[in-house]
Amino acid sequence: MFNLSRYFSTVSFILIVLAAGVLGPLYQKLSLQQMQDLAEGRNLAMAQVFQNSLRSQLDELMGSSVGRDVAFLRESDEARLLQGRVLELMRDTAVVRVKIYNRLGNTVFSTDSAQIGESRLDNPGFRSAMTGTIASELTYRDKADKFEGTLARLDVLSSYIPVRGKDHSVEGVLELYQDVTPFVDQLQRNMWLVTGGVALVFSALYMMQFIVVRRAQGILEDQEGRIAAARDTLEIQVAARTEELRRTNTQLEGEIVERRQAQSKLNYLAYHDPLTGLSNRRSFIERLEESLRENARQGERLAVLFIDLDQFKQVNDSLGHGVGDELLVSVAARLAEHVRLIDMLARLGGDEFICLMEGVRSEKDVEVLAQEIIGAFDYPFRLGDHELFLSASVGISLTSGEGETVMDLMRNADTAMYRAKAHGRGNYHFYTPEMTRDAQERIRMENLLRRALDNHELAVYLQPQVDTQTGQLLGAEALVRWNSPELGLVMPTRFIPLAEDSGLIVGLGNWVLRETCRQVMQWQASGFELPQVSVNLSVKQLERPEFIDILSDILDETGMEPERLKLELTESVVMAFGNATELLERLRDLGIRLALDDFGTGYSSLSYLKLLPVHQLKIDRSFVDGIGRNSGDEAIIRTIMELARSLEFEVVAEGVETVEQADFLANLGCEMLQGYLHGRAVLPSEFRARWSEPS
Ligand code: C2E
Ligand code: CA
Ligand code: CA
Repeated sequence: MFNLSRYFSTVSFILIVLAAGVLGPLYQKLSLQQMQDLAEGRNLAMAQVFQNSLRSQLDELMGSSVGRDVAFLRESDEARLLQGRVLELMRDTAVVRVKIYNRLGNTVFSTDSAQIGESRLDNPGFRSAMTGTIASELTYRDKADKFEGTLARLDVLSSYIPVRGKDHSVEGVLELYQDVTPFVDQLQRNMWLVTGGVALVFSALYMMQFIVVRRAQGILEDQEGRIAAARDTLEIQVAARTEELRRTNTQLEGEIVERRQAQSKLNYLAYHDPLTGLSNRRSFIERLEESLRENARQGERLAVLFIDLDQFKQVNDSLGHGVGDELLVSVAARLAEHVRLIDMLARLGGDEFICLMEGVRSEKDVEVLAQEIIGAFDYPFRLGDHELFLSASVGISLTSGEGETVMDLMRNADTAMYRAKAHGRGNYHFYTPEMTRDAQERIRMENLLRRALDNHELAVYLQPQVDTQTGQLLGAEALVRWNSPELGLVMPTRFIPLAEDSGLIVGLGNWVLRETCRQVMQWQASGFELPQVSVNLSVKQLERPEFIDILSDILDETGMEPERLKLELTESVVMAFGNATELLERLRDLGIRLALDDFGTGYSSLSYLKLLPVHQLKIDRSFVDGIGRNSGDEAIIRTIMELARSLEFEVVAEGVETVEQADFLANLGCEMLQGYLHGRAVLPSEFRARWSEPS
């Protein structure tokens, strides 16, 4: 830090010393000059007095002195007289010595007679006076007189004054010695006074200023301290802010990276199926849109192949979603192997896959690809312990150059796939416009079905179940029918899948249950007793948490004895239920009996079956159909019978149309038969009329 006080002190001190050093001597010089001038003036005046008073003697002295000897000048009477006169004139004046030189520089007179005769020719004062100019010199006491070479005891001013004759020419020189000691003393005193005064004044000034400067310095230091503190604070704040910015920056960068990663993940998810890694619906649609635009320009045809697994639902239901997912992954991999690279494969969801084929020249090209796809399922899928045989149905839609949209193509392929499925497993089918009409019919039917319940268009028909040995009525299966004003009598195979898809099955199924119980109890009240009745249950009904309550209500309302009610569930429905055992046990606890419908077509494991609280197995119609024609079907029936015997299940065979079938089943020990042989499902009134009288 700049030290103002020190700087000021140094500079002021130098200035004061300088001022004092300059002013003192300057004053002295000026005063001395003044004093010298004054003394010289007095010497001049005295010289005038001497000249006036001693004119004649002087003239003679100068004129005669040339040839006279020194002794004369010292000791003659004239000399003594002159001496006396001079001393007389000197009295009471400051003049302490008088000397007279002639033109040759010889001392012709001196108040100190010893000096008479000395030559002063080389003396500068003398020479100067000889040219007419007065010369003076101050000799301080105790210093050797420059001109005289003697030691002065006084401060003396000697002046060489020219002495002029009548013609004004310089005839000689008069030298006067004036005692200026008092002046010099005075001068000395004054000089000390002045120097002291100056020093004093400057010192006072210095002190005053020093105080001011010190204060200023204090203020400055204070100020500087504050500035330094402020700067430190500022630096800290700047550092903190910089750090904060840096952190915000890195944080921002981190966020950006995270967001980018999330974005690319989102992008990936947006266009891919997370399970199989195939492209997803959105991705497929965008690709198809693009291809449609391209192809419109190039005049090429496109094909969309809709692929649906035939038994996936059963696998999923019976083996669980974990296995189902694994299977989908394997299917995706297998399909990808069989689909050419230029074709795009995507998963639409569930067990639905879709494939785009570009550059189609003829239907034959597409057929080859469809066969490839179906052929991919020729050998089984191995998942852990399971070896699964699957098949796929393929629906194909082709562009016809009539400006089909993406949605047209996908919907048409879907429609064609349904048709392929209807033709049996592992088929492909090309779309035709009448399929759309069928699909529209489905939609119309669904809308009509929605109103059917409220409009009392549904009816419960009953099909008898009889004792194999006696032909006696043991029970009946309730089978729903739809009497539609628009469509006529509709069979459940047509509308039950529709009801399942739309969720209408829950209300419909519960209605059948209630109506059946009501009917049986009404018969009971009027004297016709049906020992047992079976009602079909959809998995959608079972899934409802309130199902047990609804069932209890129906039993309460109708007064139906639970032991007489049998609920039919397909194998796969039972297996699909994670907590099936618990639910079925609650049903059993209510006293209700359970039958496994369509037995033999599903994937139930024996060990699991053993744990189920099931009473009855229903041999599927397809096996009964094969009796006498298909030894495989017969073998299956035998196995089921053995199984039922060992697990103590009751067995009923459905779809019994012929005596041969009935005999075959009777021989194997099947207790109960259901089929056209003993009666179709008919209206309750008809049923009662047929079975009232024991036959
Ligand atoms: P299902 O439970 O297997 O019912 C047996 C089907 O076989 C009935 O067809 C019946 O009419 C038919 N059938 C009986 N005996 C013979 C025969 O000797 N030969 C032939 N060819 N067929 C015979 P339906 O009534 O058309 O019912 C079809 C399916 O609809 C049923 O199969 C059942 O799964 C479902 N279903 C019917 N009513 C209901 C219902 O109220 N609720 C639920 N969830 N499903 C129902
Ligand atoms: Ca049934
Ligand atoms: Ca059945």
